[in-house]
Amino acid sequence: MRIPALVIGGGLSGLAAAIRIARFSPEVVLLEKHSRLGGLNSYFYRNKKLYETGLHAITNYAEPGDKKAPLNRLLRQLKLRRKDITLCQQFQSKVVFKDKQSLYFSNEFELFQSEISEKFPASANNFQKLLNFLQEFDAFAPTPFRSAKAFLLQTLENRLLVDMILCPLMYYGSSHEDDMDLSQFAIMFRAIFQEGMFRPFGTIKDFLELLVKHLECLGGQIRTSCGVEKIFRNDSHSIVRLESGEEIECDYILSTIGYQETLRLLDGKVPSSPDSLPRLGFVETIYQLDDSKGLSIDKDSTITFYNENENFSYKSPKELVDFSSGVICFPGNFHGIEVKNELEIRSTHLASYSKWKELSSDKNSYLEQKNHCSSESLKRIEALTGKFASRITYQNSFTPVTIERYTSKIKGAIYGNPTKIKNGDIGLSNIFLAGTDQGFLGIIGSMLSGVSIVNQHILPKL
Ligand SMILES: Cc1cc2nc3c(=O)[nH]c(=O)nc-3n(C[C@H](O)[C@H](O)[C@H](O)COP(=O)(O)OP(=O)(O)OC[C@H]3O[C@@H](n4cnc5c(N)ncnc54)[C@H](O)[C@@H]3O)c2cc1C
Repeated sequence: MRIPALVIGGGLSGLAAAIRIARFSPEVVLLEKHSRLGGLNSYFYRNKKLYETGLHAITNYAEPGDKKAPLNRLLRQLKLRRKDITLCQQFQSKVVFKDKQSLYFSNEFELFQSEISEKFPASANNFQKLLNFLQEFDAFAPTPFRSAKAFLLQTLENRLLVDMILCPLMYYGSSHEDDMDLSQFAIMFRAIFQEGMFRPFGTIKDFLELLVKHLECLGGQIRTSCGVEKIFRNDSHSIVRLESGEEIECDYILSTIGYQETLRLLDGKVPSSPDSLPRLGFVETIYQLDDSKGLSIDKDSTITFYNENENFSYKSPKELVDFSSGVICFPGNFHGIEVKNELEIRSTHLASYSKWKELSSDKNSYLEQKNHCSSESLKRIEALTGKFASRITYQNSFTPVTIERYTSKIKGAIYGNPTKIKNGDIGLSNIFLAGTDQGFLGIIGSMLSGVSIVNQHILPKL
């Protein structure tokens, strides 16, 4: 039997794309290589406790009445009821740079504006010019890369302010070393500073289960442990061969696994583009703490983005990890989330894929360096929040090699190929690209990517 549409990859973009297709063509099938869905945003168990692998915070918070907000548009497109997801808003977050210079922000944009007026009074007018520009700017026009950094330096005329604004936006959404695309900047500026951050009540597992149930209710089929090994295509249809040897025939394919990753599956002559820019790797560490006696650490912020250097550097480090900047997240610091006796802290830093890969052939050295990474990251967190090392009950670090192993992303690069294919068109009439390499990043971004590429390329043809 030939099915109309097949989605490759059960991360958030694939799940959103499959739901969107299933609303109009219920025979859609989603194939996921691993036994568990979620991709970069999944979970695992240790000592019978669930740990999330990703979710710090979801960007693009919006009130229910704001019909044009990306979050509400996404829910409408997926026909998900907002009341089925309890949105817990962040407390507040901050950017902390060398010499304790800080900028606080929350889901009330006025806080960020007043912080800039107070701490960068000479730049207040230029900041308003930036806001005026962003209001008129079409971030979704399929334009070539334009340097956000150069534009900001010219507009704000203050390197420190530019770095402090870029630090959270790059960490949560730039695939480029030391810069980001101006369109991506505009999207992320709105997503993080103007709209703000939240997380769903419950865990990522609950959120994934909601999506799965919804997809299955619409008639869609999900098959886990079904890695695609090869795609044989002609202009009328494709045959997808799974790692098990089974073959599935389909009219249209939406791949969410990455551009080069998709090309590797295609049989015969395929369009190709050079992958010359470096891909960025990260390490993520989880610390579980015993908080039964009440730790006296600074627990007021949800996310802290820090930088210790004179200038903020966002590039693949020469050493295993660059601890001089990073992200510290308290996943319990959201309104409406009850934390009982336990506290979790997560940290993220830039890391070198090639150094970790080199090390991974020697298991002992690899594990030793993972432990070293947890200790070094801990020092940075403690310097900002206060001491808690003696209360750690569990800790674990994920390297770019871990991410490569569990998501098959080339070089374990969370944000994929620096060059994006914004229209999802990879030069084939029946295979399209969504997800990380299309260009919308993060959880809401990847879900919107799945929906918009389905709307643009697949639904008109079904
Ligand atoms: C540590 C970490 C922290 C993060 N924190 C946040 C955050 O706080 N907020 C936020 O918004 N975003 C965050 N992100 C980013 C966010 O998780 C991603 O941008 C988003 O989930 C990407 O979704 P995707 O569906 O495009 O890709 P993926 O999640 O990579 O999904 C692709 C899927 O395809 C599958 N696959 C690959 N090859 C094949 C094959 N051959 N056959 C079948 N299936 C295949 C993979 O197994 C994977 O499940 C974080 C990511 C990480 C790793």
